[in-house]
Amino acid sequence: MTNFEVIKSIETDFDIKITKFKSKVTGLTVILVDRQAPLVDGYFTIATEATDDDGCPHTLEHLVFLGSELFPYKGVLDLLANRAFANGTNAWTATDHTCYTIQTAGSLGFLNLLPIYVDHILYPTLTDSGCYTEVHHINGKGEDAGVVYSEMQGRENSGESRVYLRYQRLMYPEGCGYRSETGGLMENLRVLNVETIRQYHRDYYKPDNLCLIITGKILHDELFKTLDPLDERISRKKSQIHKRPFVDSAPIPLLEKSIQEVVEFPDEDESMGQIVIAWLGPLIDEFLEINALEVLHTYLSDSAASVLQKEFVEIKDPLCTDIYIMIEPQTRTAILATFSNVPTEELEELANKVLQKFTRIVESEGIDMDRMKTVIQLAKLRILDKIETSSSYFSDASIVDHVYGKRTGEDLERATKDLKYYDQLSEFTEQQWIQYLKKYHLDNHHITLLGKPSAEFAEKLSKQEENRIEKQRETLGKEKLNELETRLEEAKKLNDVPVPSNIIEDFPIPNVDSIPFINVITGRNKSEGKFKNPVQKYLDHDSKIDIPYFIQYDHINSAFVTISLYIITTNIPFELRPYINMYLGSFYSLPLNLPDGTKLTFEQVVSQLNKDTVKYDSSLGYNGNFQQIVDFSIKVEASKYVKAIQWLNYLLWHTEFTAERLKIVASKILNEIPEAKRDGYDMTSTVMQLINFDEKLSNTYLSSTLYQEKFLPNVIKELKGNGANQVIQRFYQFRELLTKPENLRIHVYGNILKLANPKSVWNEHFKIIEAPKSLTPVPLSQQFLTEFGRNPGNQGFIVKLPAIESTFSMHTAEGPSSFDSPDLASLLVLCELLQATEGLFWKLIRGQGLAYSTNLKVDVEYGHIYFDIYKSPDAFKAYEQARKAVFGLADKKIEFDKAGFEGAKSGVIYSLVRKEENISKAAIESFVVQVLKDMDAEYNKNLLAKVQAVNIEDLYPMLTKYLVNLFKPETSNVVVVSTPVKVKDVEQGFNGHGFKLKVKNLDSIIE
Ligand SMILES: [Zn+2]
Repeated sequence: MTNFEVIKSIETDFDIKITKFKSKVTGLTVILVDRQAPLVDGYFTIATEATDDDGCPHTLEHLVFLGSELFPYKGVLDLLANRAFANGTNAWTATDHTCYTIQTAGSLGFLNLLPIYVDHILYPTLTDSGCYTEVHHINGKGEDAGVVYSEMQGRENSGESRVYLRYQRLMYPEGCGYRSETGGLMENLRVLNVETIRQYHRDYYKPDNLCLIITGKILHDELFKTLDPLDERISRKKSQIHKRPFVDSAPIPLLEKSIQEVVEFPDEDESMGQIVIAWLGPLIDEFLEINALEVLHTYLSDSAASVLQKEFVEIKDPLCTDIYIMIEPQTRTAILATFSNVPTEELEELANKVLQKFTRIVESEGIDMDRMKTVIQLAKLRILDKIETSSSYFSDASIVDHVYGKRTGEDLERATKDLKYYDQLSEFTEQQWIQYLKKYHLDNHHITLLGKPSAEFAEKLSKQEENRIEKQRETLGKEKLNELETRLEEAKKLNDVPVPSNIIEDFPIPNVDSIPFINVITGRNKSEGKFKNPVQKYLDHDSKIDIPYFIQYDHINSAFVTISLYIITTNIPFELRPYINMYLGSFYSLPLNLPDGTKLTFEQVVSQLNKDTVKYDSSLGYNGNFQQIVDFSIKVEASKYVKAIQWLNYLLWHTEFTAERLKIVASKILNEIPEAKRDGYDMTSTVMQLINFDEKLSNTYLSSTLYQEKFLPNVIKELKGNGANQVIQRFYQFRELLTKPENLRIHVYGNILKLANPKSVWNEHFKIIEAPKSLTPVPLSQQFLTEFGRNPGNQGFIVKLPAIESTFSMHTAEGPSSFDSPDLASLLVLCELLQATEGLFWKLIRGQGLAYSTNLKVDVEYGHIYFDIYKSPDAFKAYEQARKAVFGLADKKIEFDKAGFEGAKSGVIYSLVRKEENISKAAIESFVVQVLKDMDAEYNKNLLAKVQAVNIEDLYPMLTKYLVNLFKPETSNVVVVSTPVKVKDVEQGFNGHGFKLKVKNLDSIIE
């Protein structure tokens, strides 16, 4: 007999069962989402309410990982997770809950880790020393530090955070949990006491306030065999929550009047801001109301055919580049509409125009009921698609249920059976929709915040901070500072009690065979004897006519079919190549002229596409690789397979390039650039690519933010003046060269065996061409490197970026360059061993507060290895630690962590399994491996076996052959992006070590 009884058993409409269990003894809740997938996900959720900005929820989220009653060692949880076919653990803190996560390949590792994880959540050690290093302390130089503190320093003054906090302050009264920055404001963190955190834990971390949400394939018996002993242990501690967070708190009062305010945020570039408009919405259990609003918001803002995008985005001088309306789940929900990349001088005007537009819809324009029908239909399909491709649909609903739902599970049932709401919504009249818009967005008070970038404010903030630190240093005095330094060292020592190796070694590593992989069956238009399986047989039966294209079919058990066109761009000349971003951006939103004389406007194209498809997308390469290829893909319900082929045919050959459309697309891309330039990490990697990639031949260089920023204004000017025709001609040229038959490879995936004529329909509905003699070989990015990219060394920049408060760096060296390189398995294990959570880099860098994280990456397609440092107070210091470690290991002055070695292998296995975590990804991977990488279908599984066979001795040659090169000036390229105040320190650090990094502004990287 188990302690756990079924509270609710839900048969969803998607062949997935959800069961909610509760312990009769402790009140601990479990929600199990029974889903066929190679990965098992855990979301262990605590409802956390805070009425101040001390950040107790967030600091606890960090402190939980520093050890528990039964396992009082910092990092033990992650070391064990690494052995459970996982990649460490993770967590997040929201305004209303804290969620601890784990994802494992297969269920065995998950079950082994579960009780240890829960012990950490319910009974963490919460030591003084842990809190001192992890949350906040003052170092010997008088600077404030600590992992949580640095994290908030990197976030508190961003435009988004400043606008959001102001919204919270204006919308919710004093004492209301929704008003708080649960991450902790820096000024609060500086004085937060460890006892306050402990008390918070005592108040909220109760078994009946904890819900273990699990999605994946897991046997009930096995689960309770694991949970029962745990529940017994918890029951001996007898403790219960006194009051349910939020649910038992005072209700959210309605807003008394509308408010508009300007919120400044620091940025040197003052051209683009953002707007947030917020209203209060329905109560959390008014499901129909919430679903209705979600549909209404999609109608208003989703896609180029929507009311708001047509009015504000798809216009000559766009007033914003994107509009997103979301509903925050709260006891009373809130509606937040965000308008991104608004030209600063238009901020106020746009805010007014939005409400005027709503008024016009209500008073005269009405709702386009035909389009509304499409929106509802699409919303249904998107849910189905989300369920096929991710675990988050049901886990999100479960989290909301745990925080707000009735304990009986009836709200969870209502939340997860939401298709029937769509049936009700289909019956809504135009008047009903108008009533919703009026009630929630016009007759309802709102808060409008205009986020405005300010260089002066940036200047003021950094001055203030400098002064504060200086004053702090003075007040403390030399003696006290020394004392603090000693205290920090002592705390670190106390934290770093090594984990007894038997704890690690006794934790079993599951068998790879226990992972339930997804079965993909491949066939081709022309198999040439390569494939012998039912799918190929079915294809061979379909047509006797020769289809002159390369088509690979991957069969999976899906309700949808996706067609992707992979087109090689090698033959595009330099003069035309920079137009690639505009070509991709305009692909699905141009007018059409069909051969039969039919003409469609761009609006008609977009709304028809929305009617016929579930998703359509264009991208450069795949996941950042294969960037010399463009990819267009359309996902449809299986019954619309032919439609998808027709669409791609039309879009590829029959669209019309017009000056108006091209101008709009160019302006949108251009307006998004200032925001991209505020991202320290993105800019580090962009500048690195500019060093490594050819400026005439590579898409990587010519499509980069910094190149496009220089290129687009001229194009827009030409399009506005006499040069318009010339630009248009270039697009036709571009297309003609791109669509040469030898450049094209096609991928079709879905339930192939249920498609009536998977092959022959191409003959009727796609362009008939003469079969190319041979296909253009798949180009790899490594063929388009500069001299510095081919032979990294002695090249690099330090880039000043006033919008950030920390530093980032990236280091490139030569890596293996063929997918079947015999070095690959050992090198992957070595990188994982160094960078794993609680691995050597983690301890030396994150553990010392020198960076939020570091990352080692082997990129075979580029022929490079990368090391990057993310959000660091001083990237050089973090780099120095990594360098010491790598050299020490190579010289055998430091030994490899033997206990971590098996964990590292298991971590690599996890990341290989993750590439095929759902049916969609598994099918795409089949194409990437067999066509783009030109490897065997079993490539990933073979690599997995090679990883299992790696010995610790195999790691040494990898160190000397590859990794040490990352840390020598003559064999590595380096880019640092830094807040202005740190530039000097970073420059002295690196250049003192033989580097010759030049200090630059972002705008002077491309001359
Ligand atoms: Zn954090």
